[in-house]
Amino acid sequence: MSPDRYGEPADRGCRDPRCRRGFLGEDTEGRPIPCLACKPHLAVTTTANDYAEREPSARAQRAINESENQQ
Ligand SMILES: [Zn+2]
Repeated sequence: MSPDRYGEPADRGCRDPRCRRGFLGEDTEGRPIPCLACKPHLAVTTTANDYAEREPSARAQRAINESENQQ
């Protein structure tokens, strides 16, 4: 049990027996697997663009309206 930068034990609160200092070992490609109980900020948070139709932004809508008024 090593202290974190505040002097508290770094692995407090985690009951995962595989957890070693916040990581659960490595995946098949050698990347460390984070323990999300210890490191919730490492949860995967990717957003994919689905290219769906969206409302134009207010600025884009103004430009559209101006171009239509000029015709
Ligand atoms: Zn953990």
